[in-house]
Amino acid sequence: MVTLIERYRSFLPVTDATPALTLGEGNTPLLRARQLEQQLGCRLFLKVEGMNPTGSFKDRGMVVAMSLALERGAGSVLCASTGNTAASAAAYAAASGLRCTVVLPAGYVAPGKLAQALVYGARIVAIDGSFDRALELAREAAERSGAELVNSVNPFRLEGQKTAAFEICDTLGRSPDVLALPVGNAGNITAYWKGFREYREVGKTGNLPMMWGFQAEGAAPLVNGAPVDHPQTVATAIRIGRPARGNEALAAARDSGGLLAAVSDEEIMEAYRLVASCEGVMCEPASAAPIAGLLRRVRTGHDLSGLTVVAVLTGNGLKDPATALASFTEPETVPAELSAVLRALAATA
Ligand SMILES: *Cc1c(COP(=O)(O)O)cnc(C)c1O
Repeated sequence: MVTLIERYRSFLPVTDATPALTLGEGNTPLLRARQLEQQLGCRLFLKVEGMNPTGSFKDRGMVVAMSLALERGAGSVLCASTGNTAASAAAYAAASGLRCTVVLPAGYVAPGKLAQALVYGARIVAIDGSFDRALELAREAAERSGAELVNSVNPFRLEGQKTAAFEICDTLGRSPDVLALPVGNAGNITAYWKGFREYREVGKTGNLPMMWGFQAEGAAPLVNGAPVDHPQTVATAIRIGRPARGNEALAAARDSGGLLAAVSDEEIMEAYRLVASCEGVMCEPASAAPIAGLLRRVRTGHDLSGLTVVAVLTGNGLKDPATALASFTEPETVPAELSAVLRALAATA
C-alpha cells in the first residue's frame, strides 16, 4: 500500500525523520453521478471522502498533523470539534500512542462521531457552548499546556487536506471547472484551493476550478458578511458562526471566480436523500450542502451545462443515523408471512 504521505511526499512538509503513520487515508473514489447529472445538466463527480478510515476528509490532514506532532516529540494532542475532527484525532492519536483530548459542543455532535471518539480512547470535554467557544478554549488550553492543537488552524492539517485536490486532478487529468463543497470552519476550501494552485505550478493541471462553497442558512457568516452568535443547522459539521479560515475562504472564492452561498436545512435534507437514493452514496447532512447548492443554482436559472463539477462529500452518512431516521417514518411491522412480502413487492414494483 502506498500511503497518502508517500504518494504526495514532495508536496508535504515531511522529511526522512518524520514517523511513517497511516490508517489507509486518502485515495477515495471519484464517482460519476449520472442520475443527478440529469437534474443538473453538468458532468458531475462525487469525491467520496466518507471512505476515509474514520469516515471523513479530516483524516487527510490529521495523518500529517499527527506525524509531525510525533516527530516533534509531543505527548498529547488537543482539538475542538463538531465531531469529525474529534473522531479523526482520537484514531490517529491512538495509532501514535499519544493522549488525545477533544472539546465538543454538548448536544450537537452526531452520535456516531461521539461513539468513535470514545472507542478510540479520547478524553472528552463536552462544553455548554458552541463550537466557536470550544475552539477558543482549545487554542488557549493548547498554549498553556503545551499540548499540540490539531484543528485546521494547524497549518499541517491543510497540507494534508490539499491532497484531495491532487487526487481529483490525477483522476480527471486536469482540474474540474467547479469544485463544490460545504464550508464550516473554512479549512477545507482553503486547502483545496492551495492544492489546485500548487498542482498548476508544477504543470500537473493547466486550469484552476471555480471554488463554490456552501454554508447552511442558519450558519452562514461568510455569506452574510458577519459572525453568527448562535449558529443553527441540521448539518452539525458546519454549525459554525466564526470560521477560523474565513478570510482565506473569501479569497479562494474571489480569486477563483467562484462563490459562497447559503442553502436551507430543507434543501440540505432533500439533497441528502437524493444523493443516497439516486447514486447509492449515503453522506452526512453537511456533505449534501454542495448538492443542495447546485440544485438551487439550477432552479434559480443558472445553466451548468458544459461544466465538469466535482462535489466533495465530506463525511459518511453512517455517522448520523438519528438524522437519517428522523427524516423517514419507521417501517410498519407486519406478520411474518410470505403474503406480506409479496404485497410489499407488488407495491414497490
Ligand atoms: C469538518 C467538516 C466540514 C467543514 O469543513 P471546514 O474545513 O470546517 O470548512 C464539512 N463536512 C464535514 C463532514 C466535516 O467533517
